[in-house]
Amino acid sequence: MQTISKASCAMASFPCSRVKSGLCIWPSMRQVCLRKGLPYGLFRFLSFPFRTLWGASRSLKVTQFCSVTSSSSSLQIELVPCLKDNYAYLLYDVDTGTVGVVDPSESRPVIDALSRKNRNLTYILNTHHHYDHTGGNLELKARYGAKVIGSMKDKDRIPGIDIALNDGDKWMFAGHEVLVIDTPGHTRGHISFHFPGSGAMFTGDTLFSLSCGKLFEGTPQEMLSSLERIMSLPDDTNIYCGHEYTLEK
Ligand SMILES: [Zn+2]
Repeated sequence: MQTISKASCAMASFPCSRVKSGLCIWPSMRQVCLRKGLPYGLFRFLSFPFRTLWGASRSLKVTQFCSVTSSSSSLQIELVPCLKDNYAYLLYDVDTGTVGVVDPSESRPVIDALSRKNRNLTYILNTHHHYDHTGGNLELKARYGAKVIGSMKDKDRIPGIDIALNDGDKWMFAGHEVLVIDTPGHTRGHISFHFPGSGAMFTGDTLFSLSCGKLFEGTPQEMLSSLERIMSLPDDTNIYCGHEYTLEK
């Protein structure tokens, strides 16, 4: 399981930051923590977005980090590795049994994870339209009758979309407030889902460990604004990103 405290995420190293870095890896806790002040400036993020820590955890495998995290709220978040290096996330509300999935790039790993606990699926949340974040939509929707949620700007590009949301919209997941935050740059319609009550932020391909997403559709200025919006969240926010680019597999 990998979560990155927003306060300690790599974006703390804006150009004006002093270099004061540290990487702490606690496999026993199944958590990677990236401390504030890593020596990567914004320009490095924009010019070298992928695999910035490739090999740092050379001997570790992705599966070593897979686990369920529990926040102080009744929301449980389970990481589901997909494809080569994608992460989907299962959301489970303990009180109601409601289940959602964020960015299912393929259906099978999600179905397997649901089947292991005999759970249904109510919602599919997509951060953006790319196939490696929406590839499982239609099969999961057909199998479980789940509603697909995504950006209004991507309503014609997200397969099976039912609920289209805009920046600033508040949506409820089983009693948990979900704030929709526009985070363009990687794509024009990229959004992030913030669960303030659980201190969770799903950033898709906007922010990874030590890097940001490639600028396929947006501008550097848009990406910078998106990253600044993420940085403005409370310091104890956990970032759940869409890819694993720090582990050598
Ligand atoms: Zn993408």
